Amino acid sequence: MTQDELFKLLVAHCKEYGFIFPSSEIYDGLAAVYDYGQLGVELKNNIKQYWWNAMTRLNENIVGIDACIFMHPKTWVASGHVAAFNDPLIDNRDSKKRYRADVLIEDYLSKIEEKMAKEVEKGRRKFGDAFDEAKFRETNPNILREKAHYDDVHSRYVAAEQANDLAEYKQIILDCGIVCPISGTKNWTDVRQFNLMFSTQFGSVGDDSNTIYLRPETAQGIFVDYINVQKTGRMKIPFGIAQIGKAFRNEVVARQFIFRMREFEQMEMEFFVRPGTEMEWFRKWKENRMKWHVTLGMGEENYRFHDHEKLAHYANAATDIEFRFPFGFKELEGIHSRTDFDLGNHQKLSGKKLQYFDPETGESYVPYCVETSIGVDRMFLAVLSHSYREETLENGEKRTVLGIPAPLAPIKAAVLPLIKKDGLPEFAQKVMDELKYDFKCQYDEKDSIGKRYRRQDAIGTPFCVTVDHQSLEDNCVTVRDRDTMQQRRVPVAELRSMLDAEVNLNNLLRKL
Ligand code: ATP
Repeated sequence: MTQDELFKLLVAHCKEYGFIFPSSEIYDGLAAVYDYGQLGVELKNNIKQYWWNAMTRLNENIVGIDACIFMHPKTWVASGHVAAFNDPLIDNRDSKKRYRADVLIEDYLSKIEEKMAKEVEKGRRKFGDAFDEAKFRETNPNILREKAHYDDVHSRYVAAEQANDLAEYKQIILDCGIVCPISGTKNWTDVRQFNLMFSTQFGSVGDDSNTIYLRPETAQGIFVDYINVQKTGRMKIPFGIAQIGKAFRNEVVARQFIFRMREFEQMEMEFFVRPGTEMEWFRKWKENRMKWHVTLGMGEENYRFHDHEKLAHYANAATDIEFRFPFGFKELEGIHSRTDFDLGNHQKLSGKKLQYFDPETGESYVPYCVETSIGVDRMFLAVLSHSYREETLENGEKRTVLGIPAPLAPIKAAVLPLIKKDGLPEFAQKVMDELKYDFKCQYDEKDSIGKRYRRQDAIGTPFCVTVDHQSLEDNCVTVRDRDTMQQRRVPVAELRSMLDAEVNLNNLLRKL
């Protein structure tokens, strides 16, 4: 099965089992807007809790806030979003499809990288143990040719980006022969800038002075509340403010499911530091955030850093944590050293002092800031796409499993009476009552036990707890493990602690 096919299956699976629905589907949906269903919301809440607790419980110097989506319009002037939150867009005249010019070029560059990686693999197979990758890359004529082309396109792309040269974007697309994936033609329009912020009218007077924006990032809520939190919380630098909330971007390209949405959720933390110490903190947060991801157990090899060569005007260091999605390595989280850009500009535009008096140095300054920013929905997609698998069992039967890390699973345990009579449902209900205060559980008595196991596998429930006739006598139940499908007898009295050891989110937090 190709990654593309797998991705389609995953999207269908998300709908079939109540993880994600297209928004307002009875009206044929709304592009790049999705709702979370009954299981999706549980998984999403668990992801948020893992992040929130990792930030605000494990770090005594990080506190949380919940700022509003609506903010004073000057916020977005100070942050630079009014002037520069643009994407370069290009249309294909034949398919009438719209693309981001930068993404078309980046995808083209990734394809060259893939070609080179394939060539390396060929070499590895040919030369076996004697294979020296570095030497191969330096001498193989195919790789050298691809590399020269890559470097040429890449340097033109970086220069165009830096100069904001839209004509050059188009020229690169034409020179590289990039075609529209739908029409297959090169019939491109010019590249234009497009501001990604949604605007709306505030109050009852509909003129320009009442135009406000739906926030395109949650971070600015943190910056404008910085002084309130610092003073009322008596926070000493270094300290952080964390926030989870909705953000809105009128994305040019609305494909790739929940990877790129027009309404999405971010988990952002701004860490305020003494100027001059930001690089040290940037390194620490890079390490810290990678550990948070890897601790979930989804394979270290599926993450990588992508350091930015071109820095935004306000940043002096930036990296992405990329994850191996079904459509390749893509940004999951950004970590940026944002200097005093945001606080400095808010100070200028508002005329309010946003300085910190440092008792250790006796100086006042606008703090520098290191930001970690991750999309909840992208994280959700990372977890689901990594977890989805189809297996053929020894008896030839097929099963679809979501191998979601147990602490994030929407349902932690299913309680299943073997049959619907003889007092088994009543016993199972008692087991439910015992577990429900600690874990989200599901009771199911319909269909054969095999079918019920399959249903739970398909939604990623780590444990099925089966009540049989023997249970009435020995007060034990059978616990089946989702991944190994092995079963063991467990006394009901030990069930809670057994599950706790496997599914409690705190087990993950302890490893950080
Ligand atoms: P991209 O280059 O993919 O558009 P970005 O660099 O604009 O992303 P940031 O502004 O750094 O993204 O936002 C921080 C995080 O918010 C991203 O790493 C991503 O996880 C998430 N995010 C950004 N835009 C979207 C979106 N449209 N839909 C879902 N998540 C998003």
